[in-house]
Amino acid sequence: MIEKDRFLPIRIQKNHALLKRISKNHPKRPDIESDQTRRLAGYKGEQAVDFHLRKLPVKEYIILHDLRLSNDKHFFQIDTLLLNSNFALILEVKNYSGTLYFDPDFNQLIQTNSKGEVKGYPNPIEQAAQQCAELKKWLQKRNAAIPIEFLVIISKPSTILKAAPGYAKMLQKVQHVQFLLKSIEKVKSAYRNEIFILKDLKKISRALIKEHTPLSFDILEYYGIPPADIQTGVICKSCSHRPMKRHFGTWFCLKCQSKDKEAHLHAVKDIFLLNNHAPLTNQKICGFLNLPSGDIAKKLLTSMQLPYSGTKKGRVYLPPPACQQIKNLE
Ligand SMILES: [Zn+2]
Repeated sequence: MIEKDRFLPIRIQKNHALLKRISKNHPKRPDIESDQTRRLAGYKGEQAVDFHLRKLPVKEYIILHDLRLSNDKHFFQIDTLLLNSNFALILEVKNYSGTLYFDPDFNQLIQTNSKGEVKGYPNPIEQAAQQCAELKKWLQKRNAAIPIEFLVIISKPSTILKAAPGYAKMLQKVQHVQFLLKSIEKVKSAYRNEIFILKDLKKISRALIKEHTPLSFDILEYYGIPPADIQTGVICKSCSHRPMKRHFGTWFCLKCQSKDKEAHLHAVKDIFLLNNHAPLTNQKICGFLNLPSGDIAKKLLTSMQLPYSGTKKGRVYLPPPACQQIKNLE
């Protein structure tokens, strides 16, 4: 059963909001676009893995996606964790295409793509082994020691895997996505002793979810983009024109004449994504929506049931808790 689902990574949502709201010829646009392409491909790879995981017997495995945990101050991230009564299994998902050559001498992964371009990456086997060691430490501290295995999953069936002569054995930990279930079965067959009953596994799973700490990331600061470069206003869903006008209780597009009562929802989401989900004042949101008065903003924010803290003039709004939990770009 899936105890922690996978959603569209926040970084992708932040990139998306930023790309919608900087000029077409902004000098940082190419960097953001190439980062976005890479991340979307990675997410697609993870979804391909999830497709196969759905075929696992529901009662045997607890599945936790996208965990970020810490041992003291040191954070580690896990793409997917499977918990079974007998063992835990970490899946590190890679969406690399072309030919992959695992080089043990330099502890590197060398990719040659279809155009013949060569690129080096850190060895994902090493990365996953480190996650394994960190998770072991994390669980031991909570008196929940269980054998932990890992697999590096290549999400593209067409990717060719190669290792240095005499090192083919190291590829045992690397599997194409279509063999995922078989590989999990193989791991399972090596662990025949029950360590935890389901009730205990659920307890561990709850602790993992509770201590998951999403990365805080200010995208404007990262790209060095001044807030003044951000184009404000509600964007028309039909023709992308901006800003829409607030008119008789709805949003009106001056370009394509369409009306949309809910067009502000995306704009409110954008302003939170571009401000690292920090609490925002009515004044700031009102300005971003290009509204003529704070009263209208307050009415809209109240209708969205945004959580807030403080009273009267000191009130600040917080992002709605579920606003980040989407599966695909809207
Ligand atoms: Zn329009």
